Amino acid sequence: MAGGRETESTGPVSLLEVGTRGEVTKHGIPAAHGIAIGRAYLVDRRRLKTPKRRLEPDEIDDEIARFHRAVDLSDRQLDRVKQKIELEEGESYNIIAAHQLILRDEHVVDEAVRYIRDQGINAEWALLKTVEHIKEVFDAIADDYFRERRSDVDFVGERVLRNLLGRETSPVRPPPDAIVVAHDLSPADTAGLYRAAVAGLVTDAGGKTSHTAIVARAHEIPAVVGLEEVTHEVGTGDLVIVDGSEGLVIVNPSAQTVALYRDRARKEVAAGAALLGNRDLPATTTDGVHIDLVANVDAADEVSYALEHGAEGVGLFRTEYLFLTRAPRVPSEAEHFKSAMVVLNALDGKPATFRTFDLGADKLGSLIHDYHEPNPALGLRSMRLCLTDRVRPLFKAQLRGLLRASANGKLRIMFPMISGLRELHQAKEVLAEAKAELAAEGVDFDGDVPVGIMIEMPSAAVLADVLAREVDFFSVGTNDLIQYTLAVDRVNEHVTYLYEPLHPALLRLIRTVVEAGDAAGISVAVCGEMAGVPHVVPVLLGLGVHELSMNAVAIPEVKNLVRRSRQSEMANLAQATLSMATAKDVTDAVAEFLEKHS
Ligand code: PEP
Ligand code: MG
Repeated sequence: MAGGRETESTGPVSLLEVGTRGEVTKHGIPAAHGIAIGRAYLVDRRRLKTPKRRLEPDEIDDEIARFHRAVDLSDRQLDRVKQKIELEEGESYNIIAAHQLILRDEHVVDEAVRYIRDQGINAEWALLKTVEHIKEVFDAIADDYFRERRSDVDFVGERVLRNLLGRETSPVRPPPDAIVVAHDLSPADTAGLYRAAVAGLVTDAGGKTSHTAIVARAHEIPAVVGLEEVTHEVGTGDLVIVDGSEGLVIVNPSAQTVALYRDRARKEVAAGAALLGNRDLPATTTDGVHIDLVANVDAADEVSYALEHGAEGVGLFRTEYLFLTRAPRVPSEAEHFKSAMVVLNALDGKPATFRTFDLGADKLGSLIHDYHEPNPALGLRSMRLCLTDRVRPLFKAQLRGLLRASANGKLRIMFPMISGLRELHQAKEVLAEAKAELAAEGVDFDGDVPVGIMIEMPSAAVLADVLAREVDFFSVGTNDLIQYTLAVDRVNEHVTYLYEPLHPALLRLIRTVVEAGDAAGISVAVCGEMAGVPHVVPVLLGLGVHELSMNAVAIPEVKNLVRRSRQSEMANLAQATLSMATAKDVTDAVAEFLEKHS
């Protein structure tokens, strides 16, 4: 996961207050799109000092009672937060209930009491030692999701500490239009924030699936998380720019930078408004070819955002996040069913392609196996992992859940990382078993549920004609296809310069896949990041791709591009690129094309 890289700007310093301390740009994890410019409001939750005191033997029982009172009070406070949210938002907030469970957990309560009794230390100190011990256990697991759960232990510990110290946990009350800057925000903190009309959220901690990120996305508040030490750089009142699309936070921006971002924000708002106008227009080229523009989605709460941006459905639902949000437990068949139903209901008749879980490599391998892989991208990941004896039952549970949901909407099942026919057959065998079981149990499902595969390995692309006979659709996962075709680790910054989406070798592979799909009469989508990049799209469409699945925010611009382009001209462009020698040649050709046709 991205860390908190930092770049010092050498841009001009304004005579205005802005920029007088020098502009600092921090790079974090983009959590919710959009640009916000405003004054920082620092939520200083972390600076409580823990008093440490040795107890006299006759003080111990009273101290334990004091500790229990603080736990009870914390529990009641969380109850109130939960009720308030349910009342105001009409939805239950499970995470608060989870905090109550942590609070009542024997590892917390018993261990703290043991410290007080055995070591004769005061309740605050005992609590600190307990929380640190629990966090050490989480620390030993090198996984983003667990790091985020570690922060839940912190939130709970801090609440009890405040109650012990008689320092009530006051709600975060930023002034309107503030940029809230915090080490981390608890679910109780974030729950009411959007109503305070905050402009942006920025945190040291967190990742794409942290509570801050989820709440920010749900309420469309630009947010950047995982900045590591941003709270050390910012004070209340500082001017801050949040670029939630790029994952940038600019502290004390120069007047020039502010002007630049104001302009960008204005353009985004204007573009957003203009593009809202194109939301219901078809993505059809000037010569009448319709292109399906659909969204890549990681969580059910992103579907409405996708629809607002004109998505005609979900082209890639990454089901891994279901695992991430439940770890270390794995989702049950019922949870797969429920999650798919939430997505289908939100889509109201539009189609959704659910990719079966793609764990391993960068995505939570530790949940499934505990050994070190020297080459995770080439290791036991994705479909390979699903077909092991150990993981096969989880895979089947997912397929059963998805099949059950298929009775209620347009659901498609997609297998990731298929290298060739043998793996496809094995995956389909598990699907056939799941169908046979459900049929025997008399459970409803769509017997003809479309089944497709991702083309992410050169072997699958080369053998596309063979694979096409056995599936209902292809979706080219260019993020991995580039990685494996060019032998460039997609997460290694030292070789990023070699990661070239317009490399002619890749384009030839995509062409092979499209030809195979056309010959078999099945649809071919692209769902890697390049599907949403305007200077790549004419080539993909020219190669004959029928469907583009991308981050929802990219859809309006891509739709505009489609609507002003001619398929026949894009086909000519693509044909020309197939005989080009380098990515640079292709890039230049596309730039020229776009200039001529814009
Ligand atoms: C891809 O590889 O292009 C893809 C869409 O899958 P992911 O990025 O989840 O590996
Ligand atoms: Mg992939």
